[in-house]
Amino acid sequence: MDVKEFYKNIAATPIQYLTTINNIHLWIKRDDLNDELIQGNKLRKLKYSLLKAQQENKIIISFGGAYSNHIAALAAAGKRFGIATIGVIRGEELNDETKHSHTLQEAKVNGMQLFFVSRQEYRLKEQGDAVRKLVGNNDKILIVPEGGSNQLALLGASEIVDEIVNEQLHNILATKGAKGGQYFDRLFCACGTGGTLAGILKGIAKHTLPTKVYGVPVLKGGGFLYDDIKRLNPSAKKCNWELIIDAHCGGYAKKSSELLQFMQEFEEKFTVLLDPIYTGKLCKSVFKLASDGNANQEENWLIYHSGGLQGR
Ligand SMILES: *Cc1c(COP(=O)(O)O)cnc(C)c1O
Repeated sequence: MDVKEFYKNIAATPIQYLTTINNIHLWIKRDDLNDELIQGNKLRKLKYSLLKAQQENKIIISFGGAYSNHIAALAAAGKRFGIATIGVIRGEELNDETKHSHTLQEAKVNGMQLFFVSRQEYRLKEQGDAVRKLVGNNDKILIVPEGGSNQLALLGASEIVDEIVNEQLHNILATKGAKGGQYFDRLFCACGTGGTLAGILKGIAKHTLPTKVYGVPVLKGGGFLYDDIKRLNPSAKKCNWELIIDAHCGGYAKKSSELLQFMQEFEEKFTVLLDPIYTGKLCKSVFKLASDGNANQEENWLIYHSGGLQGR
């Protein structure tokens, strides 16, 4: 299938109204609905790397852990668009196939070539000996970083904001009457590498929106993302954004019982599914912020549902 044609035909995902807490109208941008296999922010982030690989007939090599949504999405994309993919996976013990996660099994079924490296080697990424040997001086290889976060990914993620502005913002916010339906006051997204947030900031700047952007790192000690995000997007310095660094619920892939209970109630009430690694923590922290707040003016807040349901 042709990448360009495919992306041209994707419909804008809906923005769904959730509820109002303390004068704050909460909405969710449903990118979990954009594709079942190359889902959410991964569909956005991979767009231009896939285009490049298909046009230049390249093999994509990328990096991830055994449960990586990025690896799952890249493998599915490789199959759909006829692009060869190689996944460099953290953990030598995974040479034993009986230890493979569902994510790795699916990636293999989708034709991704898997390559397992030690944690030490993994940290070095393409500078490590194992990967250097694998790549050699093959100019047919396109290296895409962990989580897909390269400059092309930022461009893809910035289109989330284009879509909100171009197709939906005016009609939707008018129904709540706040601020004349001009813009969302705040936008929230989950952060792994921070590439999605960096790209959203690009979009916010492009459209000169006054929206403040919040990132919710899902790892413990996610403050390092301030630097990573500014490195990915140097203009971020001039944008209005911050990280909520205490919303990780115990650390990466940790699931507190409060988190699971929040997710269950959320899913029943709004019929929107969440994943425990990213969007569950995201929504929980936004609801807490709204409940703690005492906005005396109406505000509209938008949660970006980045998908990730393959990890459920
Ligand atoms: C990968 C992923 C993220 C993290 O995106 P980054 O651009 O790495 O910050 C967030 N949510 C979901 C569902 C993901 O799969």
